[in-house]
Amino acid sequence: MAARRPIIAGNWKMHKTPEEAKELVTAIAAGMAGKSFGCEVVVAPPFTSITSAVAAAAGTPIGVAGQNVYWEDEGAFTGEISGGMLKSAGCSFVIIGHSERRQYFGETNETVRRRIEAAVRWNLVPIFCLGETLEEREAGETFNVIRSELTEGLRGVRPDDPLRFVIAYEPVWAIGTGRTASPEQAQEVHAFLRREIGGLLGEGFAERMRILYGGSVKASNAKALMACEDIDGGLVGGASLNAEDFLGIIREGS
Ligand code: PEP
Repeated sequence: MAARRPIIAGNWKMHKTPEEAKELVTAIAAGMAGKSFGCEVVVAPPFTSITSAVAAAAGTPIGVAGQNVYWEDEGAFTGEISGGMLKSAGCSFVIIGHSERRQYFGETNETVRRRIEAAVRWNLVPIFCLGETLEEREAGETFNVIRSELTEGLRGVRPDDPLRFVIAYEPVWAIGTGRTASPEQAQEVHAFLRREIGGLLGEGFAERMRILYGGSVKASNAKALMACEDIDGGLVGGASLNAEDFLGIIREGS
């Protein structure tokens, strides 16, 4: 089996001004200084705080992600941000298809697909989020939902570098609820995803790409989740807003 370097990514959502972003990145970097961790670390500030997070992360191992990307490169698209803009602001990753975007902002599998295509074109590493709602899980639809989000999100998209393509399995019922999927529940879906990706992009690709788990990850549950064979790190919301909490996850996930 290929060794995959885990990624611990913090999704700050609509939190942190530029000044607060600088403080948080500086505190995370200070906690990591002089130690070697086995994982990659990424933070995703809101757009207005990206440049300050990038400046604070310079010379540290912390990468910066956008929380979304539009598929056109420029034009009359009020409120949108292009891949080129993220890239020139210093981002190397971008979160796409987060369930909050799908739930509150009308994101569909097709818009997710177009955003993934734009990220790949701009050489940004997409963190492609997918996951089932509680109703879907209880109706026994988890695998059907995951399969259709995956195949529709990837239709016509052919990333060629497995190290630059990331999926985050985030069961919607576990996001911000304090309710985490058990390691067994998460592993079952991750293994399924890896098999499905193998069918779509080739087994070698699937074996090398990272699949993150997201949904109420904290230092206390990170180790058991990250120990699962197909879980290659975490996408962390609430617990990424505080340096000590996030560093705890980085330590456990390494
Ligand atoms: C997220 O927003 O991607 C997330 C997983 O949030 P939380 O960790 O707060 O559940």
